[in-house]
Amino acid sequence: MQTTGRDLSLYFHIPFCKKKCPYCHFYNIYYKTDLEKKYLKAIKIHLNDLKNILQKSNIVSIYFGGGTPSLLSVNTIEDILNIVNPKSNIEITIEINPEDFSKEKIKALKALNVNRASVGVQSFDDNLLKILQRRHSAKKAKEVILDIYKCGIENISIDLMYDVIGQDILSFQKTLDEVNLLDITHISLYNLTFEKGTLFYKNRKILEKEVPKETLSLELLNLATSSFEKLGFKRYEISAFAKKGFESFHNLGYWQARDFLGFGPSAFSYFGEKRFQNVCNLQKYIEALDSKKTVVDFEEKLKYPHNINELLAIHLRIVNGIDIIEFEKKNGSIPTKTLKKLKNSEFIAFDKNHIRLNEKGLLFYDTLASELI
Ligand code: SF4
Repeated sequence: MQTTGRDLSLYFHIPFCKKKCPYCHFYNIYYKTDLEKKYLKAIKIHLNDLKNILQKSNIVSIYFGGGTPSLLSVNTIEDILNIVNPKSNIEITIEINPEDFSKEKIKALKALNVNRASVGVQSFDDNLLKILQRRHSAKKAKEVILDIYKCGIENISIDLMYDVIGQDILSFQKTLDEVNLLDITHISLYNLTFEKGTLFYKNRKILEKEVPKETLSLELLNLATSSFEKLGFKRYEISAFAKKGFESFHNLGYWQARDFLGFGPSAFSYFGEKRFQNVCNLQKYIEALDSKKTVVDFEEKLKYPHNINELLAIHLRIVNGIDIIEFEKKNGSIPTKTLKKLKNSEFIAFDKNHIRLNEKGLLFYDTLASELI
């Protein structure tokens, strides 16, 4: 379908889960086979509507995220990939829940050139998994990772969480020790947050008392970063660590302002310097596509200098930082005021034409970002 035009990444939001986790703020609904069929029909229309763009682009990565993409049948993923018809060597990632996994499915996905798996582990401490109301055990997560590897997908990322209710150094150390025993290439490390609309948010007054306080939180983060580095995982983005050569190409695109198109309800896109989001409801998404209306529910195109400031803030998440000359060549000139702010910032290391977060900046990125945007 595609030529070798401008680089483009594709994101498919699979909005199905078997159970809603109490901390999750992503759009998802209970999985049903007939909904999967309707979803696929809608995605096909959406892909067809954007056929011209896809044909003129060089598709460089595909990501199936969710929700729970591993709930989908292989046929659904095959149908989508057949339409996109990507080159055989691009990064294609699928998120996998240890609870909803089968070896046969992974083997079939591997045959479709899916070459990267991202497993929602969260913790290797069964007590914390219970608190997070996950349906898998630590043992199950480890077995799934090994099975994925045996099925031939050797580029495996895991999600881990810190600042979990009741988490202490001992528990986290146990989780980090397990990492050493796994054949994985990438780790995404997140802290638990209480997002509006979640069950944890509703009960936050009680739960927040049990969340690690600032000093412990910092200790947990430092423990994780030093353990990962010892094991050969380099921190290449604020919350991402990878073995050499296994940085997520798809995710790097988000931070480097590569164009990407999002399919499925609630999926974001960034295209032609415009950011937009699909409607956060499967039924509405389907109805819009059926009646040839737009699926976009929100869009914004920032004007200069806000666009540059936002790009800078996002790009600074990458630990290597920014080459100012290259950045300006690609995106336009950095406002003098912003450059001055960055030069004087306590969160930034400035070296000739290069800026990057310093130690403090890695810890307080959100403060810096809010100063910039
Ligand atoms: S955390 Fe993952 S499995 Fe849980 S509800 Fe959210 S998307 Fe579904």
